[in-house]
Amino acid sequence: MTVQVNAQLVAKKIHDLQERLSQLSPDRDVRIVAVTKGFGVDAPRAALAAGLTMIGENYAQELVSKHEQLSPIERERIEWHFLGRLQRNKVRSLASIVSVWQSVDRVELIDEIARRAPGAKVMIQLNLSEEPQKGGAPVLEGSALVGHARDVGLDVVGVMGVGSAGNRADSAATFGRLVALAEDLGLPERSIGMSDDLEVAVAQGSTMVRIGTGLFGARAPRDGV
Ligand SMILES: *Cc1c(COP(=O)(O)O)cnc(C)c1O
Repeated sequence: MTVQVNAQLVAKKIHDLQERLSQLSPDRDVRIVAVTKGFGVDAPRAALAAGLTMIGENYAQELVSKHEQLSPIERERIEWHFLGRLQRNKVRSLASIVSVWQSVDRVELIDEIARRAPGAKVMIQLNLSEEPQKGGAPVLEGSALVGHARDVGLDVVGVMGVGSAGNRADSAATFGRLVALAEDLGLPERSIGMSDDLEVAVAQGSTMVRIGTGLFGARAPRDGV
């Protein structure tokens, strides 16, 4: 079951969020990835209608299904960002659809993306809080993974991280480490900040926030999870 979205309300929330981001970060552009997991195809449509083109999804099947329901013109405009834990055997079904692979966290995944989508844009996901239930590579492996991805011809555009739930001080510190690492490695994009911690992330140097509930409201619980 999917929750319906109200396109007018989504447009207003996008507008308000853009205002807020430009206040929080007057000198640096912070772009929005609209995270549509848990919603139907009306969610990416509402985001597109309001001018957002970067759409994020966590599950391969769900992304493919939404993509298939879109018109050729809508498909042309959307830039899909894959954000979820990714099994190697799902890469093939996504290779011709995904524009930016944000949740790349291990060598076998890098190799498979390089094989199925040569030259693709990727971000290395780091597990800053070292919480095993979250995806992402240990920070110490970040530099080697970036090097490997570059070696196999991928276009490494940045790093991605998820903050510590409910702990702003921890999130500020972990986001700060991620931004420092991105700078060391010469990576322009820092994909940090979600609905509940975007202010901390922007203060630490986010260039891209990933917002789901803050735009579309509460998600339906995921079947079987
Ligand atoms: C679900 C998800 C988001 C969006 O989270 P909200 O709290 O709904 O804004 C962002 N990034 C990742 C990796 C996610 O899984």
